[in-house]
Amino acid sequence: WGGEEFLLFLPATTPAEAQTCIQRLRDAVAQHPWFRIHPHLSVTFSAGIAAHDWQASVDVTLNRADQALYEAKAQGRDQVCEAQPGLTAQAQAPIVSILAPTQAEPPPRAGDLDNGWLLSRSPSAVPTHKDHWFQQWVFGHDESLRPWIQRCLIASGIYVSLILAIVAYGVPSGLVSPRWAKVFVSADLLAAIVPLLVVRSGLAKKWNDPGLTLVQILWGCALCTLAFLTVPHSRAYDIQLLCVTLVFGLNHLKPIQAVLAGGFASIMFMIIYLIQTHAAMAAADDLALRLQLLMAATIIWLLTLQMRHHCNIREGVNQEKRRLLTAMEQLRQAIKFDPLTQLYNRPHMNSLLEDESLRHDRTGSGFCVALIDLDHFKAINDQLGHQAGDGVLKRFSACAKQVLRETDTIGRWGGEEFVLLVPDIGSVAQGFKAVERLREMVQSQVLCKDDPARRVTFSAGLAIRQAGEPIAALLERADSALYAAKQQGRNRCIISQA
Ligand code: GH3
Ligand code: MG
Ligand code: MG
Repeated sequence: WGGEEFLLFLPATTPAEAQTCIQRLRDAVAQHPWFRIHPHLSVTFSAGIAAHDWQASVDVTLNRADQALYEAKAQGRDQVCEAQPGLTAQAQAPIVSILAPTQAEPPPRAGDLDNGWLLSRSPSAVPTHKDHWFQQWVFGHDESLRPWIQRCLIASGIYVSLILAIVAYGVPSGLVSPRWAKVFVSADLLAAIVPLLVVRSGLAKKWNDPGLTLVQILWGCALCTLAFLTVPHSRAYDIQLLCVTLVFGLNHLKPIQAVLAGGFASIMFMIIYLIQTHAAMAAADDLALRLQLLMAATIIWLLTLQMRHHCNIREGVNQEKRRLLTAMEQLRQAIKFDPLTQLYNRPHMNSLLEDESLRHDRTGSGFCVALIDLDHFKAINDQLGHQAGDGVLKRFSACAKQVLRETDTIGRWGGEEFVLLVPDIGSVAQGFKAVERLREMVQSQVLCKDDPARRVTFSAGLAIRQAGEPIAALLERADSALYAAKQQGRNRCIISQA
């Protein structure tokens, strides 16, 4: 499940059965020869069990299992705790348990690390992902906003410190005039509160810049420049603050935004330079000040170039990451799905059938398999072309998805053959009903757009699995029944007699 956590999914299992299962696992873990790894090593785990409530989402069940695990940890570890039942927990609902190992830490020995023996510690009693009510209040429930809010909080902290510095030191010492103090305090207050509120409210979430990073950086640069111009004693700090402000954008600005922010700051300094050059030519410290300004503008520009470089690399990495994710998704699709019909492909259907037989053997919940073959499909290809044939296959698939129950699964077996899995049935008649529903629907639809008058039909062979019967044998029976359906004139479903 992540780190040293494991998820156990137990379909059609009661909480009591889950307890038994986990007890078996605990016994096995207890008997495992951990001493082979290290003489003093012993491993135990805690578990939280939750019965899935069919009306609730999987997330809710996982959360309940997580809470139960948390309780098990709090009760001293090496325990199994069961979550309170959900609203309508069913006796046969699937069980989800989260297991997290707890290691009895062996006494430290000299040379442990030298031997390359490194154990990860047991998780802390209080999982880090559980928020205190105060954190919940500050960050809200939307996890995606959290990094932005954190950044706004840091900026707000800096602004509040500046306000305190102005009020407690700048004004009393006469370094900042009361008039400018009012301007800076108001501007700092605005910068400390407004972005935080906008980001926390989720208002900015849909915007291009959900953390308002660029706006905040531009505002910060403008304030630093203004302070440089109006409060001579703060000049060294202003440049430092400005650089820090720019660095905030390192991880979040696009390359062009980084250039915009840095360019804005250096242009502001160049403007002050021009003002100073023009206004106070004769002043004694003017040359030093102008040098300082030129230096500042140069440093800021160099920083900007570095920022752009860094942002470019970051964008490249992100792009690569997105490309990889897309490729992985395509791969996942290719492994499971048939590209033409978007139905499950043969290997995936095979693995679903294997799973279903395991479930059948364990719970006695039976299932049927139907092999479906379109009638005279070759004629469509021959008369109307391969494209038309492809269209029929696609429309047949769409039709099947529409008419079958959500729990029934249809996949492309190959060519114009399909396999239908009807789970959770007591008699073959239920499977027959599903096939007949599909057959009637297919007959009534226009599947062949190039020849709307043509009715597409299929023949099917249906077989219900016998206890312990291998999938290959079951499919063979379905195939024989399909053959019989073709022999008997097509457009019908024949049930295989076990
Ligand atoms: P029957 O009623 O006996 O099943 O006759 P049929 O014509 O449906 O069966 P046959 O096995 O003779 O022909 C199946 C045809 O399906 C032959 C093959 O070219 C075609 N086919 C297989 N895969 C595809 C596909 O992906 N697209 C198209 N258009 N045709 C396909
Ligand atoms: Mg065929
Ligand atoms: Mg056919």
